[in-house]
This record gives sequence, structure tokens and C-alpha cells, in this order.
Amino acid sequence: MPGAAALIADLVDANHILFREGVLDGFGHVSARDPQRPGRFLLARSMAPALVSAADIMRFDFDGNTAGKDLRPPYLERFIHGEIYRARPDVNAIVHSHSLGVIPFGVASGTRLRAICHMSGFLGGATPVFEIRATAGPASDLLIRDRKLGAALARSLGPNAVVLMRGHGSTVVGASVRQAVFRAVYTEVNARLQSEALRLGAVTYLTEQEAELASATNDSQINRAWELWKALAGQAPRRAATKSLLPRRVPGPSGARGSRQD
Ligand code: MN
Repeated sequence: MPGAAALIADLVDANHILFREGVLDGFGHVSARDPQRPGRFLLARSMAPALVSAADIMRFDFDGNTAGKDLRPPYLERFIHGEIYRARPDVNAIVHSHSLGVIPFGVASGTRLRAICHMSGFLGGATPVFEIRATAGPASDLLIRDRKLGAALARSLGPNAVVLMRGHGSTVVGASVRQAVFRAVYTEVNARLQSEALRLGAVTYLTEQEAELASATNDSQINRAWELWKALAGQAPRRAATKSLLPRRVPGPSGARGSRQD
């Protein structure tokens, strides 16, 4: 477990990496359990993740209250983090995102997000889907805006690494900030690959054992990806995931010679 300064540095880097790798946009957030203070976690104030610096990190208890007299506006969905930390002592970092490739798997009944390649072995055989209507009824704004909804989401997550949130996004957990970031990036990668493979025909997925062994191997290699992503995050933003899902070219009124909008 890194010291406080190193942990906050990782948390700031995680915000920037997850933006550049296309997991977060102006929304979504990443947190870390506070190793110095039991029952607390670290999370930025309500702001775009790409702009987060160390001074923006706030400390919350698991009920979602700020510690001390910090009056800066917090993320509405901080209850995702508090309730998962409460339910899962093994979890030390959490990423909540609306990454685009994952959304279809939360709304299409009959197809579960599951490990399609070795890099996403942590997904295992099936990813749970959280249905907010079961707790909030048919007229919510889909946000996890209180403890009750956070606890229901944590129950849906169960012992898994990822839970999808119908019509909203997903939440990914890890034993460290770096592992949670790794898993969040490859959850999005897996979703894109699985969508593509399903268009081609019947899909052969990893077995549970293959997924488990691949995941264990990858866990020893996380820093290799982290160092690359951190270096890239210090350069120009890429936002690859968003771009590749949007139309590459929007024809103008005259067709082929129309204006290019990207
Ligand atoms: Mn959200």
C-alpha cells in the first residue's frame, strides 16, 4: 500500500489516464480507500476528471459525509464508493464511468459482458447488471444519489470486479488504484471486442479457469501499462473510445464533398 502522498499522486494520475484512455469524459470518478483512516476514502471534488489535481482531493466517510469542514461540492454519486468500500474490505479503489462500449451490455438482455480475451480475464464468466428500478422504482434519474442505492449497487456487484448499471454505465473495483484503472480500461476494450465478435457469429469465450489464470498473470504486469498510460496522459488528450464510437464523417448536403466534422 503506497503512502498518503504516493496514493494521492496515483489517484490524480488515474483521473488523467482514465480520461485519455476513453473511460471517463466530463463525468465519472475514481476513488481510493484511505489507508491511514479506517472508514474513509479519497475522491475529487465534483469536477471533470481530466482537470483534477492533488488539491482537489477530498476525504469522505462511508456515509458520504465530508471529513472536517470541507464545504466544496462533492460528486452526487459518492455513495457508490462508500457503500462498496463498506461491503468489500478487499477493495481499495473504485472507478465509476459511463464508458460508451459498455452501455449496450447493460441494456441488452440475453447477452452478458464476459471475458473474450486474456487481457480482460478479471471479468470471468458473466458480469452482473444493476437494475435501479428494483430499488428506486420506475421514475429515478438513474443516479446513485443516496446510501440505499449505493448499498443495492454493492449487493449487485457481489464478489465481482465489475458491475454494469442499466442505462447508465459501470463500476469497476480493484485492490489498488492501478489495478482498478487497468480493469476499467480493459472492461471497455472487452466490451468493444465482444460487440464486434457478436456481429461475426458465435463467440468462444474464455473458460472460468482461463480467465482466472490470465487475470493472475496480468496482475503482475499492471505497472507496465500504468507507466505508459501515465506518460501518454501527460501529452495531448486522445479520448479514443469516444471518437471511435462517433461517426467518423458527417456528409454535408452535397454528399462526398461535404464538410468534415471531427
Ligand atoms: Mn454516473
